[in-house]
Amino acid sequence: MRKGIEQRIASLLKDTKTQKQLLQVHAFYIKTCSSHNRFLQAKLLGTLVSLPTPIDLHYARALFDSFPLRDTFIWNTMIRAYLYAQNPQHSVTLYFQMLLHHDEHVSVDSFSLSLVFQACGRLLDWENGTKIHTHVLKLGFAPDLFVQTALIEMYAKCGHLDYACKVLDSMEEPDLVSYNVLLVEYVRIGEIKMAHQLFNRMPQRDLVSWNTMIHGYASLGDVGTAHKLSHTDVEHRQQSNEALKLFHEMQVANVVPDRVTMLSVLSACASLGALGMGKMVHEYIERNGIGIDMKLGTSLLDMYAKCGDIDNALRMFELLDHKDVFTWSVMIMGLANHGFGEQALACFSKMITEGIKPNDVTFIGLLSACSHSGLVDKGWVCFKSMSCLYGFSPKIEHYGCMVDILGRAGLLEEARELIRTMPFAPDAKVWRAFLGACKIHKNVDLAQEATLNLLELEPHVDGNYLLLSNIYSQAKKWDRVVMLRRSMKCSNIQRVPGSSSVEVDNTVYEFVSGDKSHPKSLEIYEMLEEVLDRIQCAGYEPLTTSTVQDVNEQEKQNALATHSEKLAIAYGLLTTPPGSPIRIFKNLRVCEDCHLSIKFISKVYQRKIIVRDRNRFHHFYGGSCSCRDYW
Ligand code: ZN
Ligand code: ZN
Repeated sequence: MRKGIEQRIASLLKDTKTQKQLLQVHAFYIKTCSSHNRFLQAKLLGTLVSLPTPIDLHYARALFDSFPLRDTFIWNTMIRAYLYAQNPQHSVTLYFQMLLHHDEHVSVDSFSLSLVFQACGRLLDWENGTKIHTHVLKLGFAPDLFVQTALIEMYAKCGHLDYACKVLDSMEEPDLVSYNVLLVEYVRIGEIKMAHQLFNRMPQRDLVSWNTMIHGYASLGDVGTAHKLSHTDVEHRQQSNEALKLFHEMQVANVVPDRVTMLSVLSACASLGALGMGKMVHEYIERNGIGIDMKLGTSLLDMYAKCGDIDNALRMFELLDHKDVFTWSVMIMGLANHGFGEQALACFSKMITEGIKPNDVTFIGLLSACSHSGLVDKGWVCFKSMSCLYGFSPKIEHYGCMVDILGRAGLLEEARELIRTMPFAPDAKVWRAFLGACKIHKNVDLAQEATLNLLELEPHVDGNYLLLSNIYSQAKKWDRVVMLRRSMKCSNIQRVPGSSSVEVDNTVYEFVSGDKSHPKSLEIYEMLEEVLDRIQCAGYEPLTTSTVQDVNEQEKQNALATHSEKLAIAYGLLTTPPGSPIRIFKNLRVCEDCHLSIKFISKVYQRKIIVRDRNRFHHFYGGSCSCRDYW
């Protein structure tokens, strides 16, 4: 009879899905079972804490406290309940209470230790963590793989990676999980070099190990999707390149990548502007039947947009059945950066019609669209609608965009007034936008004011000095150029070298100004000479005013002629079939002379040339640029 009820309750618990159902079973248990049944009590608590919905911890604790006899399993279950309910402090307290209740039924086991280490890790409670580490030794759990792995994770989470390593090294046969735990922590705190060293000495690697490394490099190389294309320095590019290299090695090692791998690899392609590689990944996804969900689709879309292939970005966008605010924002930002301002605005209207609520990033995309396309009135409408229609208060980034819009359109005084009246202290980005506008519109006085403010905020960024120096030389104020260069020398300002890359046959080739390191350097320079001859015949004249004054005219021309983007284009012309587009990726802003010469090259050689610089995309075709000389 008793056996029958016991079985009945056990089977009822099996079907329990909610806390309410559990309460009913609990009531039934109290009614039918006169004496305590440790097995059923454990089952009750175990079922409660494993429910798929959040549970009432007070009820769980009351249940726990009502048991006169608690065995190890019951203690562990309660410790786990606290841990999973984001209450790790109680897990630790309960662990210490468990030690006090030590008897023939209750003894700390590897599961208790693993749980309490997880709790300490989350609490960053190194003190209790080390204390409990001594229990491990005292209780004889030192050789336990499960415990050791939890210990590694605890030390790593608390920032004591040296201890974590020591534990790993002391293990007789660490398994993959122990290595992966440490690998994940290295990557999480951005110690990618240490992670790679560990990765290299791992006896085996699984999908988790590869994904961790690739994600680590890809996220370090990711320059962010927010404001503009941002500054993409050499280091970022190296990180992204490393992610792609690992992806290749992973395939050689016959480890089958999954969706997570693809997301990281696509982000690396986007940062690098490696379209060929990105397309290969897309093909791989389709060939291997990896379903393109919203996240992966958005990531593909982002890759195409950032690699300069706006047509495929649009195609991807159309193909996606479900789009969230990120998908829409990525599309709007992509259109904006490619200079398709009206389309970006149309895309936004459609998004609103479909009932998607915009976020901060959406508005940065919209305002960038207005800025790159010179849409001042629409810019104001967007900016004002943020607070009036959508209930956002514009952030400093949005003010920065607005300053950019006004400044580029030549409304320098209005832009200055906005900076004066904005509710934040202007940051470097705001001043840089304003300075850029002063440069386009050749306003030396306002430029000087902007630069002084900018240099106060960023005294070590060479680009700021160069902008001002360019403005002085345009205005032929040579004495000021000389003074500025002198003060740069005094303050030890390092120049960020300009570099451009071009992707040929899925390999990215990088050039710096005056680069002669490429094995085909001789041919490249011959090609460049031919290019310059041909475009000069077509009417190109070098714009030497944008360089410094204290060299003679010929030297100026030579310096201009070997700017990295020209070398990259020469290489592109040399190695790609006639008529195919050339995609260039420049880490800084394209200079006036390069911009002018690329326009001529696109006409003379009948090539589409797409240049991504730190601000935006330029689509050169038939002698003109999509930016309408406005960048
Ligand atoms: Zn240039
Ligand atoms: Zn352009």
